[in-house]
Amino acid sequence: MLGILLDLSVNYKLLILMNVPFNNLYLQYLSLKEEIDSAINEVIVNSSFIRGKFVDEFEHNFANTVGVKNCVSCANGTDALFIAIKSLGVEENDEIIVPAHSWIATSEVVTLAGAKVVFCDTQKDTFTMCPISLESKLSSKTVGIIPVHLFGQSADMDEIMKVAHTNNLWVIEDCAQAHIACYKGKRVGSIGSVGTFSFYPGKNLGAMGDAGAIVTNDNQLAHQMASFARHGGLKKGIHEIEGMNSRMDGMQAAILGVKLPHLENWTKNRQEIAHSYMQNLANLDDIVLPQTSPFRNHVHHLFVIKSKNRDNLKSHLRDKGIQTVINYPIALPFLEAYSHLYHRHEEFPNAYKNQKSILSLPLFPEMNRLEIEYVVEAIKNF
Ligand SMILES: *Cc1c(COP(=O)(O)O)cnc(C)c1O
Repeated sequence: MLGILLDLSVNYKLLILMNVPFNNLYLQYLSLKEEIDSAINEVIVNSSFIRGKFVDEFEHNFANTVGVKNCVSCANGTDALFIAIKSLGVEENDEIIVPAHSWIATSEVVTLAGAKVVFCDTQKDTFTMCPISLESKLSSKTVGIIPVHLFGQSADMDEIMKVAHTNNLWVIEDCAQAHIACYKGKRVGSIGSVGTFSFYPGKNLGAMGDAGAIVTNDNQLAHQMASFARHGGLKKGIHEIEGMNSRMDGMQAAILGVKLPHLENWTKNRQEIAHSYMQNLANLDDIVLPQTSPFRNHVHHLFVIKSKNRDNLKSHLRDKGIQTVINYPIALPFLEAYSHLYHRHEEFPNAYKNQKSILSLPLFPEMNRLEIEYVVEAIKNF
C-alpha cells in the first residue's frame, strides 16, 4: 500500500505544474529584511550616500574575504575591469588576450581602454580559458591576459600564470561570477596581478543596484586604481592624472555589508543544489553535466549542462514552467560587435561547439527540494 502511494507521489510530481524561476532575489531579501532595511536607514540618517564609512568598511571586509591587501570599490564589474586595465597601462596596438566564451564586458573594456582584443579558445569541459590556445595567441605586442572564472569555476591559474611570467605579462582575473571560488586553496582574485568583481544583483554576492570592486596585493597599483576611479586624485583639489568617476554608493556598500557574512553559506547551498543535480541527472543519454577540474572548486554561479537538443529541451522546460537561460548564445568572436575581425568558427572550436549546446538550469541558494526535484523530473521526461 505504502509502495503504491509512494509511486503515485512520484507521478504526481509530473502532473502538478510549478513555476521554477531562474533566480529569486526577493527570497534573499526576505531572509535578511530587518538587517537590510536598518542598514539602508542608517545610510540615510548619516547622509553617507557616496563613499563614507559603509564603503570603507566593505572594502576592508571584502579584501579580507578574498585574502588580499587592498580592495578598491567602484560602480560596477565592467568599470572594475576598465580601471584595472587603464592603471596597469596600455598603449595603442598593445594586445590583451581574453577567452572566447564570456560576457561581453570582458572584451569591450579592452577596446575602450585603447588596446586590441585577441581571443583564445576555452576548454571544452570547464568553459574556462585554454592555456594551450592562450600560448598560440601570444605575440610581441601582448601585454596582458584576462582569464575569466566562468560560471563559478576558477580558470587553470598555474598554467596561465606560467605563460604570464615567462612572457612578462600582467593578469587580470575576471572574478565577476566566482566570489570565494578557490584554485589550489587560494581564493580567486588573489592569484593574478589584479582581481575584478561585480556585485550585480544576480551575482553570487549581489547588491540592490550596480556595484563592483578591484582587489590586489600591490599597494601602489591599488593607489593608482583608486585615484583613477576618483577623478585622478585622492586629495581634494589635487589631480595627478585625468581619471573618471566610478564609485560604490553607501547604500550598496551597506547592503553588501549585511550580505557578505552569508556568502559562505549561500555558496554551500549552491554547491549542494549542484550536487543534487549531478547525482540525479547522471547517465542521461543526451545530457552532459558540468565538470570541475582538479585543484579547483566550483561556486556554481550557474549550472550549465550541454544537450544536442538544447533548443527543444529549453522549450520543453519552459512549457513545464521552468525558466532557463543560455549564457551565452553567441561566443564573443562571433558577435556582430567583432565582425570586423573576421573570425571563423574553426578558430575557436570549443567555444563554438559549446554555444550551440549550453543551457543554464535554475540555481539559487534559496531554491527548495521540491523545485530541484521538479526540474530533474522534467529533464528526465524530455
Ligand atoms: C557580470 C559580469 C561582468 C560585468 O559586471 P557588471 O557589474 O555587470 O558591470 C564582467 N565579467 C563577467 C564574466 C560577468 O559575468
